[in-house]
Amino acid sequence: MKSHSTMSRRDFMKSIGLGSAAIAGMSASAPLFHDLDEMMSISAAETFNSTTSMQKRPWWVKEVDIPTVEIDLKLRTPYAGHLSVGLSPLYVSKEEIAAILASQQNNAIEGAKNNRPGFTLRDQVGAWASLDRGQTGYLKYPPEGFRTIKVTHETLGVPKWEGSETENAFMIRTFLRQFGAGAIGYARVDDNSVGPRKPLFNTHVRLENNPDYKYDANGTFVMPEKCKYAIVIYDRSPRDPNNYRRTVNSPQAFVSNMEKCEYGHKLQNFLWGLGYQSYWFEDGTTSKFTGTPTNVWGILSGIGEYNRIHNPVSQPEGETGNFASILFTDLPLPTTKPIDFGALEFCKTCGICADVCPAGAIPTVEEYREPTWDRATGPWSASNDHKGYPNKSIECVKWYFSNAVTAFAPASRPVGVCRRCSSHCVFSKDHKAWIHEVVKGVVSTTPVMNSFFTKMDTLSGYSDVISDEGRAEYWHQYLPAI
Ligand code: SF4
Ligand code: SF4
Repeated sequence: MKSHSTMSRRDFMKSIGLGSAAIAGMSASAPLFHDLDEMMSISAAETFNSTTSMQKRPWWVKEVDIPTVEIDLKLRTPYAGHLSVGLSPLYVSKEEIAAILASQQNNAIEGAKNNRPGFTLRDQVGAWASLDRGQTGYLKYPPEGFRTIKVTHETLGVPKWEGSETENAFMIRTFLRQFGAGAIGYARVDDNSVGPRKPLFNTHVRLENNPDYKYDANGTFVMPEKCKYAIVIYDRSPRDPNNYRRTVNSPQAFVSNMEKCEYGHKLQNFLWGLGYQSYWFEDGTTSKFTGTPTNVWGILSGIGEYNRIHNPVSQPEGETGNFASILFTDLPLPTTKPIDFGALEFCKTCGICADVCPAGAIPTVEEYREPTWDRATGPWSASNDHKGYPNKSIECVKWYFSNAVTAFAPASRPVGVCRRCSSHCVFSKDHKAWIHEVVKGVVSTTPVMNSFFTKMDTLSGYSDVISDEGRAEYWHQYLPAI
């Protein structure tokens, strides 16, 4: 596959049929800065702005006041309890769960005995070993978060840390990114821009004006209302140029799972030492304490844009397929705005994620070109609170539990990933090759070339699902440093 070209950008734009008016339009929306470092150094020192200050993002990512997906949180009914993901009797019958878990166990044993690519002994043990320690199954999260740091402002005999919102924003970003976090966004519980946000908390969580957390008589977790600042953290899943992440059971895919629990732990102790509380509301795959769906916070805080898959798709990170982590704190923080780089618009004519999904969980372009308000709700999809694609996410979970390496425990998540959808997403492709930068610039400016770009992506082989031979090659590759 060619990754270099001697064509100039202007020649390329002309070759794909964009006239001088479109090129001029794109140039007008491009920044005047010579490079991103120059832009970052200027803006970070002077103002707080989610695109130019917080993330080192490509120029084609625009900041907008409300997310590109239509949301109306007035329509939201909170999820019941903490089970928002996974195989649960809420979504699947007990008999079906038993059958899926039995097949999962057989799958792992049969795969190891027969050296099935992706399921060989080293695949399975590699996957398990990559999760050891970081996964909250090993590192238990207390409900109040980690407050175990030995040195605090109190032990040092000084007042708690007091910084401006902007200073705090950069401090948290630096703290998290030194341990490997991806993009970081901030949102507020009391922001009403697309409707009230308290219903985003599941029914086993409530906010009240208390100095510290408590459980009420019904066992509901009561978080202090002052912890209204959300820190939203995007995974830093490694980009894999050879698409090995498009398999189940690739240890690479667990790097971010492991690390996010580690840096979440560190961040909570950091905040406690400075004099602040924090509550880690992970998604259900990595914590028993699922308090709120993380995807919507990622979209509201501009970590990524809504798309056909539903995980926010970011730039330059792409679709990690394993969004995200969220933590609520009383440390004052500014908000970061939603972003628009043309992703949702692109989804209307793309559908590559749906085409590669082995579970039929994502609607194809033929089924749904546009997102719709008219979606069925049920225990899995709690509320019709946004104009979305009617995914059958439970089919994803059933496929995943049936085909990933088993955890041999009904209540546990399986070790393994699919993420074909997110790995194949056109926005997950590296933008360093100039052709990708130009394409993404065009996409953010006009939808007229979107169908053509989807065809180019497919013809380039990006949508090929990895073969068993490819899986077996996993252990021979020279991986890029991450
Ligand atoms: S993770 Fe796999 S099964 Fe689930 S929606 Fe994506 S492609 Fe489909
Ligand atoms: S693969 Fe295409 S349709 Fe799917 S999320 Fe990405 S851009 Fe949207």
